[in-house]
Amino acid sequence: MTLYVGVALVTAAVVLFLLHPVIQGIHASLEREDDELTETEARKRVALLALRDVEYDFLAGKLDEDDYRTMKAKLTAEALDALAADEAAKGAGSHTGTAAIEAEIAAIRQGIQVGVLCHDCGYNNPVGSRFCSACGRSVAEPVPS
Ligand SMILES: [Zn+2]
Repeated sequence: MTLYVGVALVTAAVVLFLLHPVIQGIHASLEREDDELTETEARKRVALLALRDVEYDFLAGKLDEDDYRTMKAKLTAEALDALAADEAAKGAGSHTGTAAIEAEIAAIRQGIQVGVLCHDCGYNNPVGSRFCSACGRSVAEPVPS
């Protein structure tokens, strides 16, 4: 009988031994994902999301223009600060940084200037347009976000 117990124990030990790297591997990959978002990256992301929210709030009429400009200037500065810190943390050699954030900010800024994009011809109509200035089609439906 003790032989069977011994075999069972060895089998269990072998199974654990085989599974161990798998379990550890899963654990390691989970940990790495957490580590991938550094503090500076998190700051940058938060600032960009806040910036986007400000744009949407302004578009939705929840912010008056003074508040909008104040908050936007503050958040843009914060985002650029966070980006600079992020770049410094990662070290030199990255060319995507400033250009990338400026492109993101430009895209956000353009989003508010574009106003209503015509679904048919792509013409950028002013905010509040109900009909396309270029082709005359209705552009009243909100653009899905
Ligand atoms: Zn059109």
